[in-house]
Amino acid sequence: MQYLKERKLVLDMAQKIYREKMVPGTWGNVSLRVKDQPLLLITPSGMPYETMTIEDIVLLDLDGEVTEGERVPSIEKNLHARIYKERNDVDAIVHVHTLYASAFAVAGKSIPVILEETAQLIGHDVQVAAYAPCGTDQLAQLTAQTLGEGNAVLLANHGLVGVGTDLNRALMVCQVAEKTAQVCLLAQSLGQVNELCPEDISLLRKQFAVYGQNQGK
Ligand code: 13P
Ligand code: ZN
Repeated sequence: MQYLKERKLVLDMAQKIYREKMVPGTWGNVSLRVKDQPLLLITPSGMPYETMTIEDIVLLDLDGEVTEGERVPSIEKNLHARIYKERNDVDAIVHVHTLYASAFAVAGKSIPVILEETAQLIGHDVQVAAYAPCGTDQLAQLTAQTLGEGNAVLLANHGLVGVGTDLNRALMVCQVAEKTAQVCLLAQSLGQVNELCPEDISLLRKQFAVYGQNQGK
């Protein structure tokens, strides 16, 4: 079996989104681009996260065809493959069904940039891709198109997709989008939602690029 280390990263992240209650049951999926190869590793379809093993992770090419693995890959394999094809800067994708992001996805409303961390990590409103049933090519196409050059996208009546340069970053994008959706609804109930302006968003993103141990580099 190839790519043991990468398979373990995918498995660990899949089990993490389950432990953190970002997905119910077997929903959600996780993938990782194989470095310098036109390949990706993805979670299997509809298998319980607690008992999933690295052998269950499926290796695909960027057309979504199985290269190695016994399991049926996630039904969203084409959505993941399409994003990797269109975005050279994306190496990891996390798809979750969290509560507050799902509420925005059902209402057909973007999650606005209202927190500094939303500006820093995501940098744009999280828009809703028009509805298409799960697992379809149409959903793959609409998702990649609405994501554009962004970091997160909502799937109408369904859930949330976060992308990043690694799995931890893609997870954090989902966590921040979910928190932003929750805070937005709470702020609305208090009366007013003040969004950050484009200038502040741009400044926060620049600062964040050198935040923490990247300072002075
Ligand atoms: P899979 O179990 O096939 O990954 O499907 C779960 C899901 O969330 C579909 O959108
Ligand atoms: Zn889903």
